[in-house]
Amino acid sequence: MTKEEILKKYFGYSDFREGQAELIESILGKRDTFGILPTSSGKSLCFQIPALMFEGITLVISPLISLMRDQVISLNDVGVHAAFLNSSLTQGQYYKALENMKRGQYKIVYVAPERLLTDSFLQAVQEVEISMVSVDEAHCISQWGQDFRPSYLKIIDFLDWLPKRPVVSAFTATATKTVRDDVVSLLRLSDPNIVITGFDRKNLSFSVSHVKDRYQFTVDYVKEHIEECGIIYCLTRKVVEEVTERLQREGISVTRYHAGLSDAERKKNQDEFIYEQKLVMVATNAFGMGIDKSNVRYVIHYNMPKNIESYYQEAGRAGRDGLPSECILLYGGQDVVTNQFFIDNQGPADEMDSSTLEEIKERERERLRKMTFYCFTNDCLREYILNYFGERAPGYCGNCSNCLTKFEDVDITDIARNLVGCVKSSHQRYGIVMIVDTVHGSSNAKIQRCRMDENPYYGTLKEVQIHRLRQIVNYLILKEYLILTNDEYPVLKLSEKSEGLLIQEDPIIMKVAKEREETKEKKEKK
Ligand code: ADP
Ligand code: ZN
Repeated sequence: MTKEEILKKYFGYSDFREGQAELIESILGKRDTFGILPTSSGKSLCFQIPALMFEGITLVISPLISLMRDQVISLNDVGVHAAFLNSSLTQGQYYKALENMKRGQYKIVYVAPERLLTDSFLQAVQEVEISMVSVDEAHCISQWGQDFRPSYLKIIDFLDWLPKRPVVSAFTATATKTVRDDVVSLLRLSDPNIVITGFDRKNLSFSVSHVKDRYQFTVDYVKEHIEECGIIYCLTRKVVEEVTERLQREGISVTRYHAGLSDAERKKNQDEFIYEQKLVMVATNAFGMGIDKSNVRYVIHYNMPKNIESYYQEAGRAGRDGLPSECILLYGGQDVVTNQFFIDNQGPADEMDSSTLEEIKERERERLRKMTFYCFTNDCLREYILNYFGERAPGYCGNCSNCLTKFEDVDITDIARNLVGCVKSSHQRYGIVMIVDTVHGSSNAKIQRCRMDENPYYGTLKEVQIHRLRQIVNYLILKEYLILTNDEYPVLKLSEKSEGLLIQEDPIIMKVAKEREETKEKKEKK
C-alpha cells in the first residue's frame, strides 16, 4: 500500500496536511527526521504511517501515559496492532505484552522512557527487528524545554545498545531554537531532515484584557456566545469550582474538569463537552491533552498561565476546524504570584537532582516573565508569540487586541523618575506592590511597618491611579529601566538604564490604549 492508501484505509482521510507527506517520505527514505509542527496539526500520523510500511516494529517513546493509552486504543480500533508499555500495567500485563511483541503481534509499541533500559525490555527488543524509534514530545529531552524529563536521556543509551541503529524520528510542537538544537544533538540525530511548518494559526484572534471583574467579563462573553462551544481555563481547581458554580447558577450549559475529580466524573464531563450536551468547559490545564474537538469557538484564560508554551497550546484548542475563533487572556496581578508559588513548590520530575531542579525553576521563572510581558506589550500579540517560538512575523496582524487598538503616546518621564527614585531611595529591597503603594501614598500596615511613609517619594504620585502605576512599572521592566528579580519574592532593582533616567533629558513615551476598534466581522454581525 502507498502512504495515501494507508491514510485513506486506516485513518479515513483523503489528503495530507501541511508537512505530513514530507515527513513521511523522509522517514520512509530511512533518514533521521525531526518534525516541528504546532499542536493538533497531525503529528501522530507522520510516524504511524511509516510504522505500518516498515518491515519491523516501531517503538514510540512518549511521556504521557494517558496519551499512549488513547493512541493505542484508536489504533486498535482501526485495525492496527499496537500496545503500550508503562507503569499503568500490572506486572502480568507487562510481561504478556512483551511476549506478544516478541511474537511479532504488534506493529507499533508505545513505551515510557523509564522502561527502555530495563533488563526485560532490552532482552525483548533483542529478539525482534526495530525499524524505527520515534520520539514524541521530543522537547522533553532538553533542559531548556518546558517539560524536561531526565529519563529522555536514556533514549541515547538505548539507541547505542541496539545491535542495528533504526531510523530515528522526533516530533514536538514547541521548539525554540535552543530546544531544537538540543533535540538534534542529544538524540544524536544523524544528518536529520528537519521539517518545520508555520506556527501561525491565522483563524485565531488573540486578545489580552486587564479587566477589573473577570467573572463579569466571562459571563457576559459566554452569554453573547451562548450557542457556541468554548473552554475557560483557570489556574486552580478552586477557581474552576467557583466559576463553574456561578455560571451554572446563571443557567449556562457548563461542565468542569480538573485533577481533583474522580476518573469517572472527568470522563463523563469530558464526554458531555465533546458531544455537546454541555457547551462550556471550565477546566484547569489538566484538560485538553489528546482531545480532539474541532469546533471550539473560544478559549478564555480566566487566569494567566505559566508560560507562552502552555498558553499557545491551550489557546490553540480553539478553531481546529479553521473557522475564526477567539483566544482571550484575562490578566490579573495575582496570577503572577500564584504561578510563582507553583514554580517554587514544584518537585523534581522523575530522577532529577536538586541542582538541576533549581536551574529548571530559574528557567520557569524566566518563562513566566515572558508570559507576563505578553500581557503588557502594546505590540502585535501574534508577532510576540511567533517570535517567542523563533519564527519571524510581521509587526501587524490586524487580528489581535493590540493591532485593533488605537494607542496614544503618553509622556511618562516624570512618573518613571519618581518610581525609579523610590526604588533607589529604599535600597532596592521591595517588590512592585510596595513601591506602587508608596508613591501612591497608601497607608496600609505594611507601608507603616517598613516605614515607607517616611520615604521621600511617599505620596508623590497620589493623583495617579494604582492600576496605571502598575502598568507603568511593568512597562519600565519591559523596557529595562527597572529589573524585577527572579526570586521567590521578586524585588525591583535598578538597571544600567535607571541611572540615565534620573538625569536624562529625553522623555519616555508609553503607548496607552485610546479606543478599541471593533473587528469588521463583529460589526457585520450586528
Ligand atoms: P498532534 O499530535 O499534532 O497534536 P494529532 O496527531 O493528535 O495532532 O492530530 C490531530 C487531529 O488531526 C487528529 O484527530 C487526527 O486524526 C487529525 N488529522 C491528522 N492528520 C489529518 C489529515 N491528513 N486530514 C484530516 N485530519 C487529520
Ligand atoms: Zn496583531
